[in-house]
Amino acid sequence: MKPIVLAVSGHDPTGGAGIQADIEAILSQGCHPCTLVTCLTSQDTHDVRKLYPQPPETLAAQWEVLWSDMPVQAVKIGLLGSAEIATRLGALLRQTPCETVILDPVLRAGGGTELADERLIEVLCEELLPLATVVTPNLQEARRLSGKELPHQCASWLLERGCRAVLITGGDEPTPLVYNTLYWKHHHKTFTWEKLPGGAHGSGCTLAASLAALLARGLELEEAVRKAQQYTWNAIKYAFRPGQGKKIPDRFFWS
Ligand code: PLP
Repeated sequence: MKPIVLAVSGHDPTGGAGIQADIEAILSQGCHPCTLVTCLTSQDTHDVRKLYPQPPETLAAQWEVLWSDMPVQAVKIGLLGSAEIATRLGALLRQTPCETVILDPVLRAGGGTELADERLIEVLCEELLPLATVVTPNLQEARRLSGKELPHQCASWLLERGCRAVLITGGDEPTPLVYNTLYWKHHHKTFTWEKLPGGAHGSGCTLAASLAALLARGLELEEAVRKAQQYTWNAIKYAFRPGQGKKIPDRFFWS
């Protein structure tokens, strides 16, 4: 049977990021996606305009019914939308532990809109980081969560909160190449990628969701991290521009 990956994330009507990005990436990696929507959004391919967080009770009710029916191998957490829903998700994950939890701490949209307030950041750090197998912040997010400056300082701070590994991505940094570094235990490994011009809306979701699926399929951490980056790089390479703003990754570039 296909491994089941549960994506807990926001809905982006453009189809570029959020739940739809997760569904496409998870399917593309040969797993079955299940979904819980944390918040609705109004947005276009330029920026997010508004978040409409869902009631935590709805999430809890859906979670309980789903988990009593299906064996979920991995959970991917993306945009949360409110501290309340993040707190409830932490409680649900402690009640029903999952071996693989990928946490993509979405703090700000590519277009610049803030997607997390200080309370949500606190819950992310206190309640969700300790439950995560891999956290996938970009460097700006890692700095904001940890209050540290250098990537290895940010990673040490995040690892001390109890997550098993941290993948700090550098796609948004003004460097000629992209450097993504995986930190775990006392190791680190940097992956270097050619920078693709323009970037794409929903690349972070694509990386985190494909990583969740690859781990659910049983790959080792380093191999899953390498393959998820390769897949995301290809999806961005074949990105297309359905609207008037940013491009959207082609997560089925291979088909
Ligand atoms: N909307 C949703 C629902 C998201 O999950 C995200 C990112 O994860 C965004 C918007 C922002 O996407 P980007 O920063 O790639 O433009």
